[in-house]
Amino acid sequence: MDAQHLSDRLAAVAAFVPKGARLADIGSDHAYLPAALLINGQIDFAVAGEVVKGPYENEKKEIAKLNLQDSLIPRLADGLAAIHDEDAIDTITIAGMGGSLIAKILEAGQDHLRGVKRLVLQPNVGENRVREWLMNHQYQIQAEQMLAEDGHIYEIIVAEPTTCPVRYSEKELLFGPFLLEKPSATFQEKWQGELQRCQYAVQQMQKATNTPAERLAAMQHKIALIQEVLENDYGNGHH
Ligand code: SAM
Repeated sequence: MDAQHLSDRLAAVAAFVPKGARLADIGSDHAYLPAALLINGQIDFAVAGEVVKGPYENEKKEIAKLNLQDSLIPRLADGLAAIHDEDAIDTITIAGMGGSLIAKILEAGQDHLRGVKRLVLQPNVGENRVREWLMNHQYQIQAEQMLAEDGHIYEIIVAEPTTCPVRYSEKELLFGPFLLEKPSATFQEKWQGELQRCQYAVQQMQKATNTPAERLAAMQHKIALIQEVLENDYGNGHH
């Protein structure tokens, strides 16, 4: 993969970036995502934020190689601190990390979210943590996508700030309000797999001498939710 040949996952994230956006890609590593959008003329300006020196050096190399120094700015910074006021960033992408970390980055960087009109988030795990953060900070989910690549199933969550209170049910937070509406074959596959993992975890907990009652109950509750959603889906003939 490189900026000229994005993975399906990053291409799907890129597709949610509005044309002409001023983008901050946080945790950019090689800066492939913003570089691809600039090369294709989708955007004119981007910041590529990285907290680790190695990936930051990768960004700089890629930017020099592609001669994008004037429009793609690498910044060594923690989370949204990579965004400066004068950048006038209106779109943020955060891809390829855990949902808890994405939520932590958003929480810590709220001062930098003022002019931002769209968040495109691609957690690798813990998607519910991202949706919870969005709900609690008045971001409305506008779109969601699930895709499989190289044996992994990824979710993309697109959200925009709203002045109205946002409420999602427990099921919507876990499965995604849009994904739940039209469950795909990939959705089935993901949640069948998750169901098996949870069932195995429950078996292990029950074998343990000191069964952690709260964790067990939480896992059993999750199993019940997954079964309900999978059964409903089959019942509706959505698969
Ligand atoms: N976004 C690219 C993608 O989706 O392919 C790269 C994903 S890579 C697995 C995650 C990157 O996030 C790493 O390069 C890591 O250094 C960076 N990262 C982790 N925490 C960060 C933070 N708080 N601020 C900025 N970057 C961070």
